[in-house]
Amino acid sequence: MSTPTTLVWLRNDLRVADNPALLEATRRGAVVVAYLLDDESEGVRPLGAASRWWLHHSLTALALSIAELGGRLVLRRGRADTEIPRLAKETGASAVYWNRRYSGARDIDAALKVALRGEGLEVTSFQANLMFEPWTVTTGEGNPYRVFTPFWKACQETGEPRQPLPAPDAIISPATETGGPSFASDTLDSWALLPTAPDWAGGLRERWIPGEASAAETLDTFAAEVLTDYHRRDEPGHEATSHLSPHLSFGEISPFQVWHRVRGDLDPGARSNAAKFLSEVGWREFNWNILYNFPALATANYRPDFDAFPWENPDEEPHRTELAAWKSGNTGIPLVDAGMRELWQTGYMHNRVRMVTASFLIKNLLIDWRVGEQWFWDTLVDADEASNPANWQWVAGSGADAAPYFRVFNPVLQEKKFDPRRTYISRWIPSDELYPQPIVDLAASRKEALAAYDVVKYAA
Ligand code: FAD
Repeated sequence: MSTPTTLVWLRNDLRVADNPALLEATRRGAVVVAYLLDDESEGVRPLGAASRWWLHHSLTALALSIAELGGRLVLRRGRADTEIPRLAKETGASAVYWNRRYSGARDIDAALKVALRGEGLEVTSFQANLMFEPWTVTTGEGNPYRVFTPFWKACQETGEPRQPLPAPDAIISPATETGGPSFASDTLDSWALLPTAPDWAGGLRERWIPGEASAAETLDTFAAEVLTDYHRRDEPGHEATSHLSPHLSFGEISPFQVWHRVRGDLDPGARSNAAKFLSEVGWREFNWNILYNFPALATANYRPDFDAFPWENPDEEPHRTELAAWKSGNTGIPLVDAGMRELWQTGYMHNRVRMVTASFLIKNLLIDWRVGEQWFWDTLVDADEASNPANWQWVAGSGADAAPYFRVFNPVLQEKKFDPRRTYISRWIPSDELYPQPIVDLAASRKEALAAYDVVKYAA
């Protein structure tokens, strides 16, 4: 009898280490590893441009690691509900394994599970990308948490997350050369994920190395050299954070790996930094918990009283011009412009500056948070289905455990506090640049924002 074949369908888990679906499949017999580019299914948010760039390189790295283990990465494009059953048939797979996802796309997985089982296949899903799956952390009444601190406390009370799993020793491919199944793969180039005309990805290439090996190295360097400075994480001019976010978004590294690397033998000086850092990783878990319970997070206010908010129309002047100035980093407010330029050039922005730029768009320009969220979605390499909308709604005041709307960040005071020597600003705005005048008066626009918020207050 020939060895049974398992189809492993990878999604946001582009790694060979700590990948339970892959490891279990190799224990079962032959394995075909597949990645599907699905821009069509309902519940799947098509990737933005910067993420597509990252995906190209991440898949290149992954294909190489799989080949080194003896396997092959098969690329397909299309709707999961047709392509996965088709691929299972073509490969002669008797089982399909995947690691669970937690967005609205899980409906696709649930339907596939039923359909494939109906065809007699074994279908198993695994926990890989969240340490605390949403249905395991609920309030005493069984409801989802809406506030981070009790959520994170409850997570920690469930016990230590499991240890990361090793990469498989080898991947055995089905014996195609001896008359077994034959199946084709798309070429990565045919997906045209990289920008060409124009090629705007120069800054991204300079800044990042996508892929699992780079993710592991980033974590090691952070834990060994940077973590002790994490208490300075709010200073954008100082290297004090991990830059793991795109690696975590694509699943090139798992939160279990991050957790145990940072938890392991810390010297006492690093302990409070480690706890703070891990609580930020906890915010990622919290945001996925929110998205799981509220799949419309990117399009609808989590707090429906915000539906009454009188946003300006960004298609009309002067808001159109103001929005364009925000996107290109030409608002005349240095910290905002530095941040928007960092984003455009590198696909990343420091967290403190993300809050300042988002607040400026929402509260000084009165432009709907969804417009900014979409811009970040398209330009961030770490664009995350849960953390991007959750953070935008946090800044707007419409989200779970959000900053109150009336707390308007003043970008000039933020600069004084967090970038007093302009280390960060001068990195993105040349000192000899003919710099624009502010497009809005900060004090007057703050007043208008508070007046606009009255509509929400009285609608509630
Ligand atoms: P570190 O400080 O080293 O944190 C470690 C990890 O914890 C991060 O990699 C990330 O996975 C997680 N984390 C840290 N802060 C947060 C947070 N506030 N919310 C959720 N997870 C967090 N993060 C994304 O991963 N994707 C996004 O699309 C995204 N959009 C954002 C939009 C806005 C408006 C704001 C204010 C924040 C957004 N963040 C997003 C959160 C945060 O800015 C980034 O996670 C962080 O800057 C990444 O840098 P780092 O890896 O060096 O972070």
